[in-house]
Amino acid sequence: MFKKILIANRGEIALRIIVACRELGIKTVAVYSEADENSLHVRFADEDVCIGPPRSTESYLNVPAIISAAEITGADAIHPGYGFLSESAYLAEVCEACHIRFIGPDPNVIKLLGDKARARRAMKKAGVPMLPGSDGPIENEEKALKCARDVGYPVIIKAVAGGGGRGMRVVRQPADLANALRTAQREAEAAFGVGDVYIEKYLDHPRHIEFQVLGDHHGNVVHLGERECSIQRRHQKLIEESPSPALTDKVRRKMGGLVVDAAKAVQYTNAGTFEFLMDDEGKFYFMEVNTRLQVEHPVTEMVTGIDIVKEQIRIAAGERLSFKQSEVTFTGHALECRINAEDPDTFAPSPGVIHAFSVPGGPGVRIDTFAHSECTVSPYYDSMIAKIITHGRDRQEAIARMRRTLEMTVIEGIKTTVPMHLRISAEPDFVAGRLSTHFMERYAAKAAKPGSLAESA
Ligand code: ADP
Repeated sequence: MFKKILIANRGEIALRIIVACRELGIKTVAVYSEADENSLHVRFADEDVCIGPPRSTESYLNVPAIISAAEITGADAIHPGYGFLSESAYLAEVCEACHIRFIGPDPNVIKLLGDKARARRAMKKAGVPMLPGSDGPIENEEKALKCARDVGYPVIIKAVAGGGGRGMRVVRQPADLANALRTAQREAEAAFGVGDVYIEKYLDHPRHIEFQVLGDHHGNVVHLGERECSIQRRHQKLIEESPSPALTDKVRRKMGGLVVDAAKAVQYTNAGTFEFLMDDEGKFYFMEVNTRLQVEHPVTEMVTGIDIVKEQIRIAAGERLSFKQSEVTFTGHALECRINAEDPDTFAPSPGVIHAFSVPGGPGVRIDTFAHSECTVSPYYDSMIAKIITHGRDRQEAIARMRRTLEMTVIEGIKTTVPMHLRISAEPDFVAGRLSTHFMERYAAKAAKPGSLAESA
């Protein structure tokens, strides 16, 4: 087992990894930017190294600085968390060259699945259901028009290197295709440094359902069931839950088995997430694989009782998975609300100093956060400041626990999305589990008409 792990991240996920390391008796090294000097992840790590100025390109994305920090402190592994360098095949390769273990899949697997067009081909070959679309990047307008005609409108243009919901364009008619193609290519180039895009059929009211897998270096792969992440704004997740209210045991077993086979086909190791869209008829279509820990991993931990971060560390250290698929059980229902430092109505960022911070605990509540009274929410990084996760015997109990937790949450000094979550959790469609990725559009349209929202909000 590792003696010391460097955590190449910040915020709540750096703390989450420290928690796992402490339970495993592993020492930790925090890296931080000048903006994060007083952060809790620095306080609670055994050692810490400043790796640069606030801008993430100069700190949390700075591979040489991170590798130097690992070498100076004698860390034998690096956990990248999510975001930043978590899906960087380059970091994984440099780690390998420096004899530092990267806690994640093999660099070649990261490369394969990080290119969404290649990932589509690999998954198609492995028998995973797919939305019709282009088999590789679309080079020009002519090819785009032909592909879109074959697939049928509406279509979505997506960046091959995409992530974080960026660089996507929905096209509903041929006349709009050329323009959308150029914009998508430009956006992809600006955001990811690679302008390649591909086309797939656009589904109008799908559910986002993803499966968590874990694979060791001895050929064992298991799935930990699904999460539903249909409540999104601009393709970014706001609320996640497990299990999905739309899945039966039978479908879970079938899809889980399929995902395990697909993971084995690409020799997947460590934690990963296979993302799908599900249509009105309950049909699944592959979207992408995220080769890292997800923000929403706690809902899976709550229903399975499996500590995914500890498993990641054990797997990276070469241990066998300590349980079989038949030993994975699902108990109750878990929800996660992402609390962002944002205006709940306009979604404008709201960085600043938090003057008071209190979130109640109680049965079935888990809070993953770096926030505390008098801490600063920096404008340099993601606006998520806390994740409120609740677990109940069933979905209604999880919702009731979420509502009373949100109601009793005190965060003063900055604006947060707590009021938005309170309103969503009172929406009849949400309560009934009638979810789709367009939920928030309907919600926003209702919010624009005063008086039409659920009364309890
Ligand atoms: P990213 O990697 O940027 O998060 P994804 O491929 O995971 O991108 O897609 C994010 C979200 O975009 C999905 O959850 C869904 O809401 C929407 N989306 C992506 N592809 C489609 C599609 N073919 N049809 C409908 N919605 C889509």
